[in-house]
Amino acid sequence: MVQPYNDRDGFIWMDGALRPWREAEVHILTHALHYGSSVFEGQRAYNGKIFKLTEHSERLHKSAEILGFKLPWSVAEIDAACEEVLEANGLTDAYVRPVAWRGSEQMGVSAQATKPHLAIAAWEWGKYFDEKKANEGIRLDIAPYRRPAPHTAPVHAKAAGLYMICTISKHEAEAKGYDDAMMFDWEGRVAEATGANIFFIKDGVIHTPIADVFLNGITRRTVIELAKKRGIEVIERRIWPEELAQFEQCFLTGSAAEVTFVKEIGPWQFAPGDISRQLRADYDDLVNGRG
Ligand code: PMP
Repeated sequence: MVQPYNDRDGFIWMDGALRPWREAEVHILTHALHYGSSVFEGQRAYNGKIFKLTEHSERLHKSAEILGFKLPWSVAEIDAACEEVLEANGLTDAYVRPVAWRGSEQMGVSAQATKPHLAIAAWEWGKYFDEKKANEGIRLDIAPYRRPAPHTAPVHAKAAGLYMICTISKHEAEAKGYDDAMMFDWEGRVAEATGANIFFIKDGVIHTPIADVFLNGITRRTVIELAKKRGIEVIERRIWPEELAQFEQCFLTGSAAEVTFVKEIGPWQFAPGDISRQLRADYDDLVNGRG
């Protein structure tokens, strides 16, 4: 059994100061809990250094702004707080989770009077997907939900509310024995997995959906750069499900998922090949400071 996340030793940074882990609590009448007014980040530390820390803190700020609230801590202060949390918990290789939310000053849909809060926790977290499985490729179901249209949700915020359909989709996939689910976008094009972006390879060329209706992941952008550095062509374009049969390789990218091979999406099969393996190794080198 995994030790529950509210019952651990260590420290969590909350609203400007470190608190004992078990005391980092919110009241039940917190706006975020009722109305989804919460945004978060997820980043990994490797050998004591948080990869792309400032990009994550900037995105946290932007996500809050999209939801209409402003964090009273600057990007530099959030960066420093993340580092403080790592150090206070004696961690060097860890997952870091900043979360920002609207407080308890107001209940109801309107939340103008609520105060913004910020907490940062960190813990040791192995691979996002089972490592043995991920080596040959994980299996994805087709999600029952689609990524929402950009005029129906704040699709570029990393907002807690957007994960409701991801959790439902992932649960359905797991119940059928899959590792995760691939989501189409609102128009039926390939979008991403429930917590990671997706890439395909055919004839030595990488194809990935344009990230204009879902999160343009920091790992996604990093891997595109790594591929280009190796002289591998990367095409960002609309990808329809009918095309999936032609692709030879597939992988996911995310701060938690890193580069994870995919061997199956519903009826379509893939196998990790040289380019997937090269990019996974390049990403590993980069995050560990060997890049
Ligand atoms: N899409 C979704 C839905 C995610 O949750 C994540 C993880 N944050 C990503 C993509 C990948 O983003 P990043 O590479 O910035 O972690």
